[in-house]
Amino acid sequence: MEITAIYPGTFDPVTNGHIDIIARAARLYSKVIVAVADNSNKHPLFELSQRVKLLEDVTAKFGNVSIIGFDNLLVDCAKQHNASVILRGLRAISDFEYEFQLAGMNRRLSPDLETVFLTPAEQYEFISSSMIKEIARLGGDVSSFVPQVVQEHLIEKFNRG
Ligand code: ADP
Repeated sequence: MEITAIYPGTFDPVTNGHIDIIARAARLYSKVIVAVADNSNKHPLFELSQRVKLLEDVTAKFGNVSIIGFDNLLVDCAKQHNASVILRGLRAISDFEYEFQLAGMNRRLSPDLETVFLTPAEQYEFISSSMIKEIARLGGDVSSFVPQVVQEHLIEKFNRG
């Protein structure tokens, strides 16, 4: 059976943790759509177009992964792209409460859409985009947490002030 999974998030910016989840999903599903939420109310560091472009760069090696931006309801976006699975990553117990609530709400909105959780390899469990931004802002080395192209963009962003 051909199953399309949609992996939504802010990806501000994409980290090695996100990529680990995408790689696992690419092995499980025929098609994986990474859906980058506009989330302008969250005031992301990177514009939607930049977040999409960085994801395109770092997932180019996967033949069945595509990247889209979206600003509508996730369940509607999933339907538009014929996705039957919503993918989310679970790092720690602290993620669980929010993710459980989100999965429950999405099920109420669209009962046929299943939420599936994947966990990353151990070394990525503690990586979050917000922590990466904070480290980069303070001049720390983020090279082991994000791809090189993301690191370059972070340095450029914070050097410009
Ligand atoms: P959101 O604003 O939707 O939480 P994020 O980009 O922070 O967007 O995260 C998108 C998804 O990826 C979430 O399910 C989150 O739990 C998961 N995720 C984030 N970082 C990691 C990581 N290091 N390992 C595994 N999953 C992660």
